[in-house]
Amino acid sequence: MHPVYIIIIAIVAYAVIMGVMALSRGKRSHFVCPKCGNNFQVKGAKYLFSPKTFTSHYVTCPKCGYSGMMDVEPGAK
Ligand SMILES: [Zn+2]
Repeated sequence: MHPVYIIIIAIVAYAVIMGVMALSRGKRSHFVCPKCGNNFQVKGAKYLFSPKTFTSHYVTCPKCGYSGMMDVEPGAK
């Protein structure tokens, strides 16, 4: 096999693993809205593709519509 294919496969495998990890993390974490105090979870692609740092995500509160960086709280809602 050409070495380039091995690199491509490694990158794809890495992306898939990171995606699966992020999705499982999304199921086990929640956010607390700083405006209205609503607890909510963001799942799937929304969690995966939301702008984020290691400890917070840019998400939108489903109750009051506030958007901003919110800390990822451990545990499901
Ligand atoms: Zn809110």
